[in-house]
Amino acid sequence: MTLVVTPHAPTLVPVAGGGNYPVHRIYCVGRNYAEHAQEMGFTGREPPFFFMKPADAAVVVPDGETGVIDYPTLTANLHHEIELVVAIGTGGAGIRAADAAGHIYGYAIGLDMTRRDLQGEMKKQGRPWCIGKAFDQSAPIGPIHPKAVTGELLRGAITLDVNGVRRQKGDLSELIWSVNETIEHLSAAWTLQPGDLIFTGTPAGVAAVVRADVMEGSVAGLGTLRVAVR
Ligand code: MN
Repeated sequence: MTLVVTPHAPTLVPVAGGGNYPVHRIYCVGRNYAEHAQEMGFTGREPPFFFMKPADAAVVVPDGETGVIDYPTLTANLHHEIELVVAIGTGGAGIRAADAAGHIYGYAIGLDMTRRDLQGEMKKQGRPWCIGKAFDQSAPIGPIHPKAVTGELLRGAITLDVNGVRRQKGDLSELIWSVNETIEHLSAAWTLQPGDLIFTGTPAGVAAVVRADVMEGSVAGLGTLRVAVR
């Protein structure tokens, strides 16, 4: 077989304790904490909805390092969204929430970086969100922690500081659609595959970052994710 262009190398996320997790797709859940839904102008009782980012939008940040993202083009309002990321280990379609935990390989901390001004403009015009959500370097992610080690993450603090000042704070127990319910809804629409990441939504407090800001996110049990904007 002759390849006529050079194939893109797979995105690999290191696994705490050894090994790498090859990324297939990145799914994201919109407005999945009530307070954040309210700050975006919604009630929080809407059914879950999804968008995607390309696998190579991930910026992999090894444990203990500070990742770097470039301030993206076309925006003057780059927002942080700290999120629990679920890594699918066993794929499937039509997965029931009661069976969903068995499909989870592990968890990571992720940032759903958002060009909020462009997303807002697309919403207003009824157009796709891609330009606001799915741009290059829009998905910084820390190491994946196997569920076999962490157990199922059902509660625990999720926070984001910018330059040492707390911006976002919530608890995993406040997810409107739990991880297991999210997997049920998502797998009704797409056949989940090993390598699929799910960004599960962000708590309230989303706001802008500028060049030279340093974001430090945490999820109880998963350590911290540090990312600088240049
Ligand atoms: Mn998000």
